[in-house]
Amino acid sequence: MSLPDKKGYFGSFGGKFIPETLSFCLKELEDAYRNIKKDKKFKKELKTLLDEYAGRPTPLYYAHSLSDYLGLKVYIKREDLLHSGAHKINNALGQALLAKFMGKKRIIAETGAGQHGVATATAATLLGIDCEVYMGQEDMERQKANVFRMRILGAKVIPVTIGTKTLKEACSQAFRDWVTNVSDTYYLLGSVVGPHPYPKIVRDFQTVIGKETRKQILAARGKLPDYLVACVGGGSNAIGFFHPFYKDKKVKFIGVEAAGFGQGGLSAASLVKGKPGVFQGSKSYILQGKDGQVKNAHSIAPGLDYPGVGPEHSFYKSIQRADYQAVSDKQALAGFNLLSRFEGIIPALEPAHAVYYLKKLAKFGKGKTVILCLSGRGDKDLDIVRKYNL
Ligand SMILES: *Cc1c(COP(=O)(O)O)cnc(C)c1O
Repeated sequence: MSLPDKKGYFGSFGGKFIPETLSFCLKELEDAYRNIKKDKKFKKELKTLLDEYAGRPTPLYYAHSLSDYLGLKVYIKREDLLHSGAHKINNALGQALLAKFMGKKRIIAETGAGQHGVATATAATLLGIDCEVYMGQEDMERQKANVFRMRILGAKVIPVTIGTKTLKEACSQAFRDWVTNVSDTYYLLGSVVGPHPYPKIVRDFQTVIGKETRKQILAARGKLPDYLVACVGGGSNAIGFFHPFYKDKKVKFIGVEAAGFGQGGLSAASLVKGKPGVFQGSKSYILQGKDGQVKNAHSIAPGLDYPGVGPEHSFYKSIQRADYQAVSDKQALAGFNLLSRFEGIIPALEPAHAVYYLKKLAKFGKGKTVILCLSGRGDKDLDIVRKYNL
């Protein structure tokens, strides 16, 4: 049986833990998505957008220097070469087109670091749909360039001033808006998190990464890889990369979370350090304190700085289909430098965590074939790196 099941569960994870007022919105979305998935016109339009606008298929690149240095055969899936600089555009285009097919006039989104907000603003503008993005006031201060980008693209950025003034509250505000305005509004969620059917919809739109990779590695080597390595924030680039290899039991999956300060300090490693619980509409691993309250997350990578993770990853962990590891801020910076210096590719700080993990893998995986999902490019992170590296 393919997962999630009808109620949105991956094993015991996922589901729909929502107030009654939201059930109509989610049901409408679920029905629309089920129909559109089979719609030839939708599929064709999406493929055109992905290929001609976003720049798919992305290359699978054999990293010669890094491979020699590590004693591994390292291939890199270049999602960093996509328009707007990261894999997030795959999901944003898919859902924005879904919104258009549903006849919605307005798209709303939540954003933390602003990357999902920028991808959503890009897709909405392209399709001629109004866009409003909820963003915590604290995050707006920290990520001024992305606020500016969204405004250039014609989106309205709405500051969220409640609670910690960050992603969590931005998400709640977006849901609140959706309940009130569902007749003309589509809520475009940014990762494989939240209540059913979002983890499934976002995963489906991101599986283009893994499907292409599977074909490309078979064409290049005539066999499947030994390992797939990807960073995990909410988990969308990783699940999109892993999922098409799910049945290839010999292909090992390694999800790399952010250990933040490391050694018991603040982190964003929900799977490695968290426990199952309910957060933002679904059951999954979350970082929580002794009495179950959600902890603050920290990572040097803005896109990994989230105390929860998608339910499908929790399921993969529970059945040991994937192995989850955590890499600290400092190690991620080493990963950032490694890829920049050996391959002339400046990675985003999120996949820099996965790059660093290759050094650990090299210790026990000599000669193995590894594919790294390079989810985004590093231009957005240069200010952060400058502060730490000097
Ligand atoms: C947002 C982001 C991530 C983390 O999100 P996932 O849903 O875990 O993929 C990873 N890499 C980049 C470049 C991002 O922008």
